[in-house]
Amino acid sequence: MNDDARRAAIGRLGITIAIDGPAGSGKSTVSKAVASRAGIGYLDTGAMYRALTWFALESGVDFGAEGSDGLVASLADRMRLRLDSDPHDPHVWVGETEVTAAIREPRIALAIKHISTNLKVRAWMAAEQRRRMMEARQQGSGMIAEGRDITTVVCPDADVRILLLADQEARLRRRTLELYGDATEEHMEIVRAQVEGRDKADSAVSEFMTAAPGVETVDSTGLDIAGVCEAILAYVDEDLAAREA
Ligand code: C5P
Repeated sequence: MNDDARRAAIGRLGITIAIDGPAGSGKSTVSKAVASRAGIGYLDTGAMYRALTWFALESGVDFGAEGSDGLVASLADRMRLRLDSDPHDPHVWVGETEVTAAIREPRIALAIKHISTNLKVRAWMAAEQRRRMMEARQQGSGMIAEGRDITTVVCPDADVRILLLADQEARLRRRTLELYGDATEEHMEIVRAQVEGRDKADSAVSEFMTAAPGVETVDSTGLDIAGVCEAILAYVDEDLAAREA
């Protein structure tokens, strides 16, 4: 299907696309590329966890203190989160403060496990993320959401469900290039410690290394962005053709 035909079909049918995968699998770059080609919205669910982490740090939460779990969950209700779904230049605000850059600071990645392993927070996130996806679909457009539990918990009934994998060294190299602009041994080792620690904490609450039934696995190891994008769009076209038939 060419881009125009695909956009027209999405206009008639709406679409939800769920992408999961570990850190460095290329989820966000690929999801943005698919969203622009398909003319749909983009939801970075990691940015939502990051924004709540920022808000908790800003509110002075002591993560070690007794009762901090409940406090963090109540902050989610009070956080006035705004995300635009523009895949070209997504922005994030909490209240009046733009946090697009602040949520990428290392202090956020260091503290995020206190947020992402909180089950009340996860339930709040899942409901909010699902609402955004379904709303876009009903409006005769769609949304691609990427994270760790989108294909399994947030939107197990998504029209297209993909698990994006890449081998460990390829993932580390990508993350190191992203963070340092090079991939020297020294930088790779620093990133290795961070990524392995985060994947371990994340895998305690979500399964994102093995595809659930009905979820298609795409391995990005030997592919460039355009190649992964084409592989996902092929599943999109298959779904649209089946629903239109
Ligand atoms: O994708 P990103 O690296 O921005 O995600 C940041 C963190 O947010 C992850 O390491 C994970 O702890 C959490 N997360 C999650 N579930 C999601 C998306 C992100 O637990 N669906």
